[in-house]
Amino acid sequence: MPRSFFLLLLFFSISIPNAHSQKLRKADRQMVEEIQTDIQYLSNDKLEGRRAGTPGEKLASDYIISSFQKTGLKPQGDQGGWLQSFEIYDGKDISQCHFSINGSELVLDKEYFPLSFSSNEKVTGSPAIALQESGSPWFFDIKEIMESAQNNPHFDMEKALRAETRVLAGRGASAVIFFNSSKTDDGVEFNPAEGILPEKIPVLYVTRAGRKKYLKDISQSLDVKIDVHMEEKKRWGHNIIGYLDKGSPYTVVIGAHYDHLGYGEDGNSLYLGHEKMIHHGADDNASGTAALMELARMLNKSRSLKSNYLFIAFSAEESGLLGSKYFTQHPTVDLTKVSYMLNMDMVGRLNDSSHVLIIGGYGTSPEWSGLISSTVNKKIFTLKLDSSGTGPSDHTSFYLKNIPVLFFFTGIHPDYHKPTDEAAKINYPGEVQVIHLIYSITEKMDGMNKPLFTKTKDEQFGEAPAFNVTLGIMPDYSFSGSGVRIDAISEGRPAEKAGLQTGDVIIRLGRYQVSSLQSYMEALSKFNREDKTTVEFSRGTEIKTVDVQFN
Ligand SMILES: [Zn+2]
Repeated sequence: MPRSFFLLLLFFSISIPNAHSQKLRKADRQMVEEIQTDIQYLSNDKLEGRRAGTPGEKLASDYIISSFQKTGLKPQGDQGGWLQSFEIYDGKDISQCHFSINGSELVLDKEYFPLSFSSNEKVTGSPAIALQESGSPWFFDIKEIMESAQNNPHFDMEKALRAETRVLAGRGASAVIFFNSSKTDDGVEFNPAEGILPEKIPVLYVTRAGRKKYLKDISQSLDVKIDVHMEEKKRWGHNIIGYLDKGSPYTVVIGAHYDHLGYGEDGNSLYLGHEKMIHHGADDNASGTAALMELARMLNKSRSLKSNYLFIAFSAEESGLLGSKYFTQHPTVDLTKVSYMLNMDMVGRLNDSSHVLIIGGYGTSPEWSGLISSTVNKKIFTLKLDSSGTGPSDHTSFYLKNIPVLFFFTGIHPDYHKPTDEAAKINYPGEVQVIHLIYSITEKMDGMNKPLFTKTKDEQFGEAPAFNVTLGIMPDYSFSGSGVRIDAISEGRPAEKAGLQTGDVIIRLGRYQVSSLQSYMEALSKFNREDKTTVEFSRGTEIKTVDVQFN
């Protein structure tokens, strides 16, 4: 479960670990043993935190496949197999770049960095900073560009530097080294977006620290050695898909992500220590994965089933719902025949005193309210209902395909996204109750055609509540281009009023360039209620601008 959701959920509940002492029936004791075995295996050190695309993920997927096989499910992945593989883009690796001046190596990031549209090349030369001789690297002070852009609200620094590079290359530069002698912040940063086409020559940017150290005297000639080497970092995630085919026209999807944070190397860990630690992810989401395998066993045993059941263990949820997104874009069953989707993410820490169970997606079908109130045992659970179809987990991808969803979650806890999220802290009897509830819901819904789908007023996932204003969009987490691609628009919010649409890519908010989700959030935090500004965005090949007013 992505971190930015953390703050939002604090509002919902905090569960403190406690002793789980319920008296259990024999059948439930057996279920506790089964899910305990699964959670202990999935969260043990050997699996190294199950980061998508790692050997740890492979061990986990082998384990889940053998469970699905033992249960008797049919493989429903790619080419009739269990797996559905998809590529994960991890940004650009620039660590192999080198840049030296007069034999001293500059420090990457701190003193310089290549620009994303640089070519991958080695160039040397002895240019003077103030002189531009054909066939040698040229230094270029962007102060001039910034002065010319002062009153241009639509100014795009990256575009301007790329255009300037082309001009200079045309005039004979073998490389361009940009620097900024003005006091004004230029906002130049390395853009890690995927698929940026390179220019013909290497292009570097020297930071303020680098300029102060190496470019003090612009009349001097410098021996420069440039070696730009950028590589796109990619890995493969693997959804695991098993099918209980009853020959029905309709299929129910039951899902849970099985990946977790590994050693926290993707920056979504809340662990503040310095040693590299395995993030065990017992609750997040070995608990949901164990529930998935258990429900497959239970439903497979049921003799009276009419609907088909598709069990999906998603990968790369922690990188932005990538696995479920990929599945809904490349479904291995007809999505229009999916009657509804149930998602379990962190169902292992039911609090023994508050008994809080959060059910999300409550508003995505009029069927849910009656069903839930008639199925949930109020002695076991204190329900917290969230009507929104969007939220911090994989059901969102199905909701965005107009499929009714329900999301089950036992609440946030202090071990969330930390190495201490361990199997010993799981409330196994509590999870057994959650599994029973989900089983009862499927039983009651079995054989029903597709329940009616209703759109919900979606809380803005990803826009941390710290903001004063929001545009009312849902960002597309799997988008790896430059800007923020809109995945969904909320009714009655500024974006809808301004006519923004799903698929539009926001590239500027007022005078703030938007190249990533982070820069979008930074730009948003600059505005207040009632403020008026402009949104620049691309729609297909067109660049458009609309006025918005925050409310
Ligand atoms: Zn999770």
